[in-house]
Amino acid sequence: MTLILSVKIMSQKERENFYRQTTRIVDHSRDAVVSLIELYVRRNHITFEVFINTNQHAIFHLCFNKKPCCQCVSRQIPFSYPNRVINESQLTLMIDANGSRFPSHIVNCKINFCCCKAKPNLSMDVLDFTIARVLLINLCKELVWYDCIALPKITLQDFLNMNRHVLFHERHVAVPCCSCSPSMTFQRTRSAITNQEWNFLFDTVSVKCFNQIVVSNMHCICRFNASQSLSQHNIHPELGNTILKLCCPTMKAVEVLRQIRNTVYGHATKAFLNDSEYIQYKEETETAIIEIAKLCNKENEFSKRLDDLENRPLDEMIVKQKISILLENINRENNIQKSLEDITTKLQETIDNSLGKVSDTIKSSVENTIGDYFQKINPTKLSEEHQIQKSNLQSYVIAQVEAHVSENTFVETKIINIGLSCLNGKGVAVVVGPPGT
Ligand SMILES: [Zn+2]
Ligand SMILES: [Zn+2]
Ligand SMILES: [Zn+2]
Ligand SMILES: [Zn+2]
Ligand SMILES: [Zn+2]
Repeated sequence: MTLILSVKIMSQKERENFYRQTTRIVDHSRDAVVSLIELYVRRNHITFEVFINTNQHAIFHLCFNKKPCCQCVSRQIPFSYPNRVINESQLTLMIDANGSRFPSHIVNCKINFCCCKAKPNLSMDVLDFTIARVLLINLCKELVWYDCIALPKITLQDFLNMNRHVLFHERHVAVPCCSCSPSMTFQRTRSAITNQEWNFLFDTVSVKCFNQIVVSNMHCICRFNASQSLSQHNIHPELGNTILKLCCPTMKAVEVLRQIRNTVYGHATKAFLNDSEYIQYKEETETAIIEIAKLCNKENEFSKRLDDLENRPLDEMIVKQKISILLENINRENNIQKSLEDITTKLQETIDNSLGKVSDTIKSSVENTIGDYFQKINPTKLSEEHQIQKSNLQSYVIAQVEAHVSENTFVETKIINIGLSCLNGKGVAVVVGPPGT
């Protein structure tokens, strides 16, 4: 009896842990990131509505990253990300698709949201953690760079040299260097910085290793020096974002919060945290929030709020609502990626299946026409070359679908299912139609 009772008490405590951490993430982390936008807007003496209008073109292309719009000079998107950064429902929170448009708008342009203005009297209340973070890193760069350079009174070169070790291991993810501590571990497998980008950031100078490493074939990073010709304005936005996320104290804190949010809720299979998990997340979250608050001069305000949270009784209903909002946000953020992955998997399965069945059907009438080709790619005797062909075909199809999905022009028509069942049954499907269908 006592045992059962103590288990029950324990789980209540764990549930409470979960609820408190949720509040810390949904309310306080969000508010901290929004404070940064507030600070940026205040420093530029504009309202949030003016901020959105000023950046309308960039915001539009954070969502529609493939097609040029009326404002694009020579039909060139100013800069584009390989994937959408925000989706249409997030855009709708800030931009009024049905209101008046900027004079740049070409009358017969039919693109949704093109040249559309911010919602009248827009307030920052519409911002959740996800959108606030996206606006911060894409549109408030001056503030983020200020935190790295002007505030500590150093040059961009100083800043890059100070962070040389971190950046080096974003280029060489699994190779120890002369500045590694013996306990350094390498967990990542993909580099965030390419050779080309590294050479753009750093010049090679001839100096002796400061760490006196004599072991041959050990990388020495002492000979790299940030290029003198660099300015924060000639670094490509995407590379700039990578550097800021890795090296800027404020952006690092924002990334910690995002990471914790995704770890605790992204794969939420349980709605409780045991005490040691709780303490770890609590400390990491609080440290990150206070780091952000420092830049906004709101350290005291946030410390007090975090202390209050720890001692205040919880309203279970309110927290439950927060959790559902949070999950909705994470889902939204992952949605584009997810739907792409789903389609990719489906396509890959179909292609694999159809290739697997080819051998049975070659003897049919198809043999005379495209049979030869399919015989060659019979998976039982797929040569390396054909494997490459096959995977090229797959990546091509995937890239095509990806492009259509991001332009919102991918539609699953009836023919897909007919085609798929035909592929599954017979191994071959020939689809005829004008280009683009
Ligand atoms: Zn347009
Ligand atoms: Zn444009
Ligand atoms: Zn337009
Ligand atoms: Zn190292
Ligand atoms: Zn060295």
